[in-house]
Amino acid sequence: STPGAPKAKEEKIVVTVRLRPLNKREQAIKDQVAWECIDDQTIIYKSTPQERLIAPTTYTFDKVFAPSCLTETVYESVKNVALSALMGINATIFAYGQTSSGKTYTMRGITEKAVNDIYEHILNTPERDFSIKISGLEIYNENVRDLLNLDTGRNLKLLDDPEKGTVVEKLVEEAAENDKHLRHLISICEAQRQVGETALNDTSSRSHQIIRLTIESSLRENSGCVRSFVASLNFVDLAGSERASQTHTDGARLREGCHINLSLMTLTTVIRKLSVGKRSGHIPYRDSKLTRILQHSLGGNARTAIICTLSPATSHVEQSRNTLSFATRAK
Ligand code: ADP
Ligand code: MG
Repeated sequence: STPGAPKAKEEKIVVTVRLRPLNKREQAIKDQVAWECIDDQTIIYKSTPQERLIAPTTYTFDKVFAPSCLTETVYESVKNVALSALMGINATIFAYGQTSSGKTYTMRGITEKAVNDIYEHILNTPERDFSIKISGLEIYNENVRDLLNLDTGRNLKLLDDPEKGTVVEKLVEEAAENDKHLRHLISICEAQRQVGETALNDTSSRSHQIIRLTIESSLRENSGCVRSFVASLNFVDLAGSERASQTHTDGARLREGCHINLSLMTLTTVIRKLSVGKRSGHIPYRDSKLTRILQHSLGGNARTAIICTLSPATSHVEQSRNTLSFATRAK
């Protein structure tokens, strides 16, 4: 941790739920809307009386966002988590949900708005010198790929550094010259992930993407004590949450080996244990690549927000319930 960095209290994980509108495909097959946000913290399942007897119908969270909400509004709920990285506190924002529920759509918007706010803060803080570095990686089948270096950036190893903790060997870190340059580097990472997506049609449902900003700052012309901060801010677009559950909407069970995603399973265990707090005992960060890479930005002094994305469609109710029960356990 950074000397002089403020200590955060043991904060709870910020958990929010975003319900997207029905998409064209769902409209075309006359799928119905099964969920409704009845206020800004409560989402309900529009169930029949029989269904009400067998499963919960009301879920409450820090915030829920109706289909009409803009990403800007969603961002407001995680803004403090993002901006804490400017003060030397590691932070991670996740998008969790089944494939096609809106993770990528949401995370891209959140990243863009966070970048705006970070540069606004820099502009308003002339007494400090800031530097921002970016790296981007994808974890697919427990293989780490560098999104800023596709030539040799495959199957990267994780190393244990006595000072920095887990580091990804040979991962490219680019210094951002300004906000425009940073946006450009982010767009390269996003485009690289899509390249994989067309080659192997379900890459994005199976892979995790991390965009990591390392933000460093120090006081200018400071005599005596050097007040410098360094922290990581991670934007994580997770694999489809159907890869964490045994059940399928269509009832079919694929071979476990290709269906279950180790990093996603481990992450859900880590988050559940963190939300229980100090009594939870051993936290299995080391059991997957994703949780090793994020270890110092999850739990402890770090701040975490999870945006759970939900399809509103009746045909996806089973997966939506799985997402909401994960979200409930993360609170
Ligand atoms: P995921 O990354 O979870 O697989 P996507 O982010 O790719 O899902 O979203 C699936 C589709 O739904 C995309 O076409 C996306 O533009 C659209 N979409 C997702 N969320 C919203 C939203 N809140 N409002 C409008 N369209 C959305
Ligand atoms: Mg996606």
